[in-house]
Amino acid sequence: MRNVLFVLSGPSGVGKGTIAKKLIERNNIALSISCTTRLPRNGEIDGKDYFFISKRQFVDKIKKNGFLEYSEHFGNFYGTPKDFVENHLADKDVLLEIDVDGGLNVKKNFTDAILIMIVPPTLNDIKKRLESRNTESDENIKLRMERIDYELGKKSEYDYVIVNDDLSDAVSEIEKILKKEKAKKGE
Ligand code: ADP
Ligand code: 5GP
Repeated sequence: MRNVLFVLSGPSGVGKGTIAKKLIERNNIALSISCTTRLPRNGEIDGKDYFFISKRQFVDKIKKNGFLEYSEHFGNFYGTPKDFVENHLADKDVLLEIDVDGGLNVKKNFTDAILIMIVPPTLNDIKKRLESRNTESDENIKLRMERIDYELGKKSEYDYVIVNDDLSDAVSEIEKILKKEKAKKGE
């Protein structure tokens, strides 16, 4: 079965990172590591969670056409490095964990990309999850909550929408989608 490029998007705090971790533990999947100009959070490691680079380095990479897509969130730049994706797709499925606009931009370059949106059972769940993660200031949580309507408004442009209520159910549903999409591609 051929390898696929798939995108997990959805509002900040919906559980993308948690789902991605489970998928990678159980399958032959490479998680694309994005570049960002934001500072590392406590415990985040350069080259593992993100490539943490300066604004200048980021702009340089844009000029060299080094991103599959990039965008700005909460005052920082985030982008998907093209070489990382292309190198890994040769022997694994590749997972991108990026925002909705990023996902839609990827699809323009990579029409075979599978777009999966993760949504919360209720809006209140997202707020609770962001608070319990304990990584964002109140102001940052407010900014992230304000963006939710925009992100959820794009769900009809995504190939699949998965509700992250029970974590293991959400992971299994995504695994079924991957199996189906890989079978569709044949060989
Ligand atoms: P994202 O990557 O989308 O910003 P995270 O994966 O960091 O979100 O999850 C945000 C918080 O929600 C984390 O504390 C995580 O443990 C929790 N979480 C994730 N999925 C679920 C779920 N299905 N039910 C309850 N809590 C969850
Ligand atoms: P965070 O700061 O919480 O790690 O990420 C903030 C937002 O940036 C999230 O919505 C996340 O999905 C998005 N993001 C992370 N990496 C990329 C990327 O490479 N490209 C784009 N467009 N968005 C990204």
